[in-house]
Amino acid sequence: MTSILIIYTGGTIGMIENPETGALENFDMEQFRHLVPELKRFNFTIDAVTFESPIDSSDMEPNDWVRIVRMIHENYERYDGFVVLHGTDTMSYTASALSFMLENIGKPVIITGSQLPIGKLRTDGKENLLTSIEIAAARNAQGEPMVPEVCIFFQSALMRGNRTTKINAEGFNAFRSNNYPPLAKAGIHIRYETHLIRRPDPTRPFTPHYLLDNNVVFLTLFPGIREDIVDMVARIKGLKAVILKTYGAGNAPQRPWLVDKLKQMKERGIIVVNITQCSKGRVEMGRYETSLQLIDSGVLNGYDATPESMLAKLMFLLGHDLSKEEIIMRMNESLRGEITID
Ligand code: ASP
Repeated sequence: MTSILIIYTGGTIGMIENPETGALENFDMEQFRHLVPELKRFNFTIDAVTFESPIDSSDMEPNDWVRIVRMIHENYERYDGFVVLHGTDTMSYTASALSFMLENIGKPVIITGSQLPIGKLRTDGKENLLTSIEIAAARNAQGEPMVPEVCIFFQSALMRGNRTTKINAEGFNAFRSNNYPPLAKAGIHIRYETHLIRRPDPTRPFTPHYLLDNNVVFLTLFPGIREDIVDMVARIKGLKAVILKTYGAGNAPQRPWLVDKLKQMKERGIIVVNITQCSKGRVEMGRYETSLQLIDSGVLNGYDATPESMLAKLMFLLGHDLSKEEIIMRMNESLRGEITID
């Protein structure tokens, strides 16, 4: 019999309005089962584990990603698939982190949530939850899981987790995967794009990872950015990587002071990687004159990575005591389908 484990971490999906304050607060898994009686209609086992105190995903920390990985690791053999209920605010960060931490995963990990609590009449939570369970349990003709990847399912689209970004603070279509097509679309039928789905290497085991290093910072360029701000970033104690959010196809001002600061960072052993502020498309350093100086300063290409997956990838790689050369090598590889390299 198919068995699915729901991991409940918190978020709007499981919140209820506090009658006194009017604020949304988390409720527990039993209330959940009561509000979603449809769960009983699946003809397979659905168990649940929850965070001791469910959290708003704005409070998620790398330690919480570790907790989720541990829950999946401890239950890996017993369940066919996992559904993680999570707040939407940082869902793409968690999805990205889990994709790196769960190396060579052979079972689906479907992360979902909702914009309206599951107890509300017009909730999007029921549909998201029930379809996620169905996807987590789905098998192909060979009896293998349809989607052995870390994904986000939200409002009819199944997306590779490390390709997603939250794009809407109100609408039910809260997530988008701008640089990679959806892995499946749920309408009357769930249509899987099997050629887009990654499959584990059968010769290697599933390997969970627990080590992360958060000595990483985002540096967003903007017209008028002050030298002393970049200088302060370059001086942060213990800093190991800077994610430089540039313009367009990876362009930056050509001011000599900026070039100097970037070179200083490189000399201090700090990895600087270039991703674009655009939500779609990729970095192409050298296409314009305004990115040639970045190549000269040793800035790495972030390709078409989302900010969320770049952050998670760096925390993951830095956490593993690799040499700088090894990290640079892996930054130029797609480890979990997170970037497109021509
Ligand atoms: N603040 C909530 C959270 O991320 C929002 C949501 O779940 O939609 O936990």
